[in-house]
Amino acid sequence: LADPSVDPDLLLASPLAPSKLSGQPLPPQLYGAERRNSSGVDLAVIAERAPLLAAGRALTSIPSVPEASSKGAAAAMDRLDAAWAGWNATPLAERCAILDRAAAALDAALPEYCALLVKEAHKTWPDAVAEVREAVDFCRYYAQQALHRLAPVALPGPTGEKNTLHLHGRGAFVCISPWNFPLAIFAGQVVAALVTGNTVAAKPAEQTPAVAARFVELLHKAGLPREALCLLHGPGETVGAALVAHPRTAGVCFTGSTQVAKIIQRTLAAKDGPIVPLIAETGGLNAMIVDSSALPEQVVDAVVQSAFRSAGQRCSALRLLCVHEGIADGVLHMIDGALQELKVGDPADLATDVGPVIDAEAHANLSRHVERLGREAKLLAERGAPGGSERGHFIAPAMFELAGVSAMKEEVFGPVLHVVRWGPGTAAPDVETLVAQINALGYGLTLGVQTRIDSRAQRIAELARVGNVYVNRNMIGAVVGVQPFGGEGLSGTGPKAGGPNYLPRFCGEQTVTINT
Ligand code: GLU
Repeated sequence: LADPSVDPDLLLASPLAPSKLSGQPLPPQLYGAERRNSSGVDLAVIAERAPLLAAGRALTSIPSVPEASSKGAAAAMDRLDAAWAGWNATPLAERCAILDRAAAALDAALPEYCALLVKEAHKTWPDAVAEVREAVDFCRYYAQQALHRLAPVALPGPTGEKNTLHLHGRGAFVCISPWNFPLAIFAGQVVAALVTGNTVAAKPAEQTPAVAARFVELLHKAGLPREALCLLHGPGETVGAALVAHPRTAGVCFTGSTQVAKIIQRTLAAKDGPIVPLIAETGGLNAMIVDSSALPEQVVDAVVQSAFRSAGQRCSALRLLCVHEGIADGVLHMIDGALQELKVGDPADLATDVGPVIDAEAHANLSRHVERLGREAKLLAERGAPGGSERGHFIAPAMFELAGVSAMKEEVFGPVLHVVRWGPGTAAPDVETLVAQINALGYGLTLGVQTRIDSRAQRIAELARVGNVYVNRNMIGAVVGVQPFGGEGLSGTGPKAGGPNYLPRFCGEQTVTINT
């Protein structure tokens, strides 16, 4: 640590480890308890090593999924609209029971789903285990929430009058999900829309339809009527566009880029007919603020997890590390050391930390960005990656120093970390200026804070316009029911997935007043 006589922060800082988060008891049965830290997942991978590897060997090819056409998508919307009244009238307890049965079936089939995630989405095994568990949690959590949040509410009224508030499904909902969580986000969107009484047109990302198709089959086996859900695999430009533009679309739930969310919003606004709600969870340009009182070892672990795990392909991932100049040299040197320890390679290998990026297009975009950084920024560290494309499209995890926060223009969806220094003599002399600069980027998803000054952490959380603030830990892997996830501004509309306010946004409301 730096000398306290030159850095007043250090006089304020607690000499001990930062206080641990003390949460509410976890909702029963959720995996969240085990996933509160990454070592929980890694232990699970070790415990399930044999079945995981056996499932990996057994899966020799990715099952193919037939593509829909724009016409097929429109016809599906007509059928889903017609089926809505019947599904919406299904008792709530029955809808919740389907989700509970689906959770149990998914849990039992964890190794097979992991194998599919590793093969189709190039996930590492620890990421695959965490993702299947997250999908299980979404099913269980939304089933629990639905029973509480969707029950009719008796309201006060004058004598002789009975008032009741009812929530109901809106109609045929369109769910469009991304390739980076092809099971968890797909499942979370779809079961939320279904349990609230909507019929659902589900369009998974073009890159990852097989795991989605398998989950749809699982839902039907768990008792979901065929007519309540339709899987439509195909390009966003044709199939996705036809679903969104359909005259009977009752709502859209989308996770993906900010740019596509805006196209969807414009399409919905331009249609004749009802005003259609959009739930969008989009990108992030997420920063971590490290002050001079932070614990360097903790910072290094949090940075490596947040920036490079999942090959940086998470909306929540760390993109911009803002480190106080007083400790910057030491911390950056340690991050370089940790980076060199990462195993970059085949995700099918249990020991791999960083796998390839999703496809050739992502690789080309990231390579262009890295080339530009090579000219405009300073390379601080790089971990070599396998070349060629036979074993996957690898991007070498790297760390570049930028002149200031405003040099960050857009989300970069890969294992590339940008660093700026802050503190006296820099463009962000104090933490308030730094947070204002981060807010000015316009995104608002996650923010990491590393400090041993509790009041500073609180002040930063108050000033930051973001959905999820993580203090003295990594900033990825929000746990269902524990860390509701989602942002604001360019990062999305809310509500937060895995939180208590999610389900009502899929609903219409009706107040019934009876003069008795
Ligand atoms: N919920 C995930 C996390 O907390 C990120 C989801 C996403 O990338 O869209 O890391």
